[in-house]
Amino acid sequence: MFKIGCHLSIANGFLKAGKTITELGGNTFQYFSRNPQGGKARPWDQGDFDSFMEYASQIGIEGLLCHAPYTLNACSANPQTRDFARMVFKSDIEMLEHFPNALYNFHPGSHTGQGVEVGIGQIVEILNEVIYPEMKTTILLETMAGKGSEIGRSFEELAEIISRVHHKEKLGVCLDTCHVYSAGYDIVNDLDGVLEEFDAIIGLERLKAIHLNDSMMPFASNKDRHAKIGEGTLGKEAIIRIINHPKLKDLPFYLETPNEDEGYKAEIELLKNHRAK
Ligand code: FE
Ligand code: FE
Ligand code: ZN
Repeated sequence: MFKIGCHLSIANGFLKAGKTITELGGNTFQYFSRNPQGGKARPWDQGDFDSFMEYASQIGIEGLLCHAPYTLNACSANPQTRDFARMVFKSDIEMLEHFPNALYNFHPGSHTGQGVEVGIGQIVEILNEVIYPEMKTTILLETMAGKGSEIGRSFEELAEIISRVHHKEKLGVCLDTCHVYSAGYDIVNDLDGVLEEFDAIIGLERLKAIHLNDSMMPFASNKDRHAKIGEGTLGKEAIIRIINHPKLKDLPFYLETPNEDEGYKAEIELLKNHRAK
């Protein structure tokens, strides 16, 4: 089955977002756990959650991906920012444990001048604090473009974080197509080679989700600007190869393209039409 969806707001609840993704032709979606630029979480609404779960099982929606707020930075030089990251992790995981097999995606962080090694150490420390043995949620590290002091611009950096976390069975990776291309992984001309490299360094079994985006910026630019499918430097053909690649085709794909609902609907339809039968 082709698992395809886009980023949606849950400001009006999970059930509303579930109905929206059905209208847009998708069967999964990504949402922010809380205001992406802030910190306050929505109060938990058990009634909405129960109605959503019932609707999702009837319609066949599965594999929601929760995205941590951009303000979560586990490797900031500012200790208060790192404390905020701890708090958000703990409270988001508590919310996600309501779901049977939740996926929680976060940006590894920006070391803000401390250097990659110090940054990785701080990310590992926080992950080791917030992950507990009974946790059912899988935490995904997102591949980053490498702007500024971003960590996660290379497969090696992600592999090092994973290797130092005690409960590494709770960790996975979300590959963002715009970000990896900007980071210098040529998924347009050498998708097989990039996936072989991913497998050798991280292990393809860790790959749990794809952020499917075109890019406004050139290859290896370390810039992070998403474009609509077919309107950027990756191009439609490369994106169609990605959704049909034997090693990727069973993963969930989430569009984070600059679109309103109508644009997402058109992209989902385009991708479904180009999905190999
Ligand atoms: Fe992201
Ligand atoms: Fe992304
Ligand atoms: Zn991005």
